[in-house]
Amino acid sequence: MDSKLPATGTTIFAVMSTLAQECGAINMSQGFPSFEPPQGLLDRVNHYLQNSANQYAPMQGTSALRHAVTDKLADLYGREVNADTEVTVTDGATEALFAAIHAVVHPGDEVIVLDPAYDSYEPAVTLAGGKTIHLPLIASESNPDFHIDYDRLKETVTSKTRLIILNFPHNPTGVILSPSELDTLAEIIRDTNVYLLSDEVYEHIVFDGQRHWSLATHDELWGRSFVVSSFGKTYHATGWKVGYCAAPPELTAEFRKIHQWVCYTVITPVQLAIADFMSSTPEHHNELPTFYQEKRDRFCALIADSRFTFRPAKGTFFQILDYSEITDEDDVEYSKKLTREIGVASIPVSVFCEQALDARLLRFCFAKDNDILEEAASRLCQL
Ligand code: PMP
Ligand code: GLN
Repeated sequence: MDSKLPATGTTIFAVMSTLAQECGAINMSQGFPSFEPPQGLLDRVNHYLQNSANQYAPMQGTSALRHAVTDKLADLYGREVNADTEVTVTDGATEALFAAIHAVVHPGDEVIVLDPAYDSYEPAVTLAGGKTIHLPLIASESNPDFHIDYDRLKETVTSKTRLIILNFPHNPTGVILSPSELDTLAEIIRDTNVYLLSDEVYEHIVFDGQRHWSLATHDELWGRSFVVSSFGKTYHATGWKVGYCAAPPELTAEFRKIHQWVCYTVITPVQLAIADFMSSTPEHHNELPTFYQEKRDRFCALIADSRFTFRPAKGTFFQILDYSEITDEDDVEYSKKLTREIGVASIPVSVFCEQALDARLLRFCFAKDNDILEEAASRLCQL
């Protein structure tokens, strides 16, 4: 068959989770918590399941959830957004990313992604007829955290560039953006027709007293941005697949044209429950940084004496470990070997990159109960 995605295999998340299951390994590969959503939220879902909220929600999402999102955007980012014309509830962030890409990318357009780039971006661009341009994040002696090379970004933006996809807090490296970087980005695209797609699914998971600088905080960038998030990360409920896209009215109108044909609408009782929980318990997302920072610190302390080297993640629930002092094996092979031989599954970072990496890196999800983190670390320390 003449494949529309000839270069695409099965996503690494399915590959590694399947292998982890087959081997009975601790699964720190695919990003999902080992713990449950808050009881108060589960109670609200039960309530709606039992009280006739089981038919289609409006195409753009329930009014209650769209308003809860606008309240949050105003609270956290100072952005006043219209719930009717600027927020759409989606089938997880994945569908929001797909719909935003298809809303703006025409055949022949170029879309810039920052490598390592989350694996759903490029196939969506390809299906829209666009061309993905990979710009590697860089790390140097003076700035050892992965970061955007703005000079190269400026050179990479051409008259063909339609969209730049950003993802901060960044999966898999855990790095975050500073507000001055938003200004630099604004300068680079000021006289262009470039749109921005900002994948902010880890917006509430930022450590060390830092904060997340959403594109929604920036007046100039907001005017051309799709800001995407996922309730799965925030509420320990990745299996619910509910997210949203916030964007100015003109962009939202185009976005909804795609969304309505991809899935039309999203599970009603869960939307209503999340809206209730966001209004009744806003402290939940404010407490996430402390909750996950404790896990990051615990995991990092447990492997401090191992032969892995690392820089603690600045956000997300992923920790990158460099294994170059242990072996120079290829990371895809090594992650599978660790899954089979010591029973700890991780994600090889090279699968998110077009060009080979200098470093040997694996990504570990630390959204796990402490006993799981302890057992995994003790196995990793034996290497
Ligand atoms: N973007 C990034 C960077 C992610 O890590 C994920 C999933 N963990 C998604 C998008 C997809 O989110 P969802 O499960 O809500 O579709
Ligand atoms: N986003 C999750 C991760 O990075 C995986 C989501 C998926 O399996 N598609 O691990």
